[in-house]
Amino acid sequence: MEAVVFDGMKLKVSYQKDFPIPKIVNDDDVIIKVAYAGVCGTDLHIIQGEFPALKTRPLPLGHEFSGVILDVGEKSIFKKGQKVAVDPNSGCNLCDNCRMGNYHHCSVGGMNSTVGLFSNGGWAQYCIVPQSQVYALPDEITLEQGALCEPYSCVAHGFDRASPLKVGAKILVAGAGIIGNLWITTLHLQGHRDVTVCEMNKTRLEIVNRLKTGYRLVTPDILEKEKAEFDVIIDCTGVGKVMEVNVQYLRTGGKYVLFGCCPATHQATLNPFQIYQKELTIIGININPFSFPNAIGWIKAMGDRYVNYESLGIKTYALSEFQNALDDLKKGLVSKAIFKKLYFFGIIKNEPKLDGVASFNYGVPMATFSSIITPWLPYSIKVLVKSNQTSPNSMGLRRLITEFLWLPSAPSSRPGYHIASKYSSSRIKRAQTRWGCAV
Ligand SMILES: [Zn+2]
Ligand SMILES: [Zn+2]
Repeated sequence: MEAVVFDGMKLKVSYQKDFPIPKIVNDDDVIIKVAYAGVCGTDLHIIQGEFPALKTRPLPLGHEFSGVILDVGEKSIFKKGQKVAVDPNSGCNLCDNCRMGNYHHCSVGGMNSTVGLFSNGGWAQYCIVPQSQVYALPDEITLEQGALCEPYSCVAHGFDRASPLKVGAKILVAGAGIIGNLWITTLHLQGHRDVTVCEMNKTRLEIVNRLKTGYRLVTPDILEKEKAEFDVIIDCTGVGKVMEVNVQYLRTGGKYVLFGCCPATHQATLNPFQIYQKELTIIGININPFSFPNAIGWIKAMGDRYVNYESLGIKTYALSEFQNALDDLKKGLVSKAIFKKLYFFGIIKNEPKLDGVASFNYGVPMATFSSIITPWLPYSIKVLVKSNQTSPNSMGLRRLITEFLWLPSAPSSRPGYHIASKYSSSRIKRAQTRWGCAV
């Protein structure tokens, strides 16, 4: 199968066409056919040797991904064809931390056993994971959105740790990379309106504008001049020194939420007297314990209004374009790079054979996986379009195009849908390009 493989000994990443396809080993294993898999800042740190990952053998990275169940072990609660997202983190359930409910601090699991860091991850066509780390996605969440469950689950944990965050509080979000953007959507969803976003990269600030939250956008020099104070500061920069400066912008009784993961070598000098006198609270946030259901609930509530690749500044890439994805992310040209598995949506080669017919996504039946061979984006393709675009649950034309283009172009008997050949080829192409697809 195709995979983007990291060699921890040589600190090298390569695209491989013949990485072994996983096979069910345990009763509770599931094999996922990966649809979308994100590149996280942590992955960049791993590739640079700044963050621990498996060294004993090369493996596909990728700990933020969504897909469809391809095969299941005997004790699986999942069914083939189900749309899912994966929580890459787990604990041993035996150590003191796990038994105290802190499995993210597990002495043997937790960060030491993360899928995509210590076992094969989602930068591949298929991935095997234990079912305990798999979550079914509701119909309202697309596979595209599903790939953001993991980062949103970290924000959900941060939100819990920082709570109460009272509506009306004056909040500063420092750093507007993807994590800053996810915090911005979260705060807006929860009703927060007195929010300032500080970011030194102007391209990133322009991306924040696309979210249309009305939040004030500033660069750090403006904050320094204004000397304004905030009730809550959410630091998504991942730069230790930022804390040193920003703590001074906290009001009496303020909270500093340290969310961005700094390299272990970063230092910041704080003034203990200031912390004492102003009764400041400093809150560290580490990954996502018990937060996946919450993240799924948020994404369902947010819908396309917030969880939209275009407005979040996310661009998609084929696995073979991994170098462009990493470069664009490093240069800050995109807020996030996500591998979109083009074969998933069109050409299917060497698919392990499945029996029967799977059905998912709006209940539109899908033919046996191994029999589908639909060319990717022939411009004359007919597109299924929901006829009632004004329905509150409608996610709009773009989503339907991206969700349905890969389907064989057979008419659906489901009421409310019809074949719409009136959508011209150029319009389809434009919609795809806006989603950053490699066509
Ligand atoms: Zn991540
Ligand atoms: Zn444990």
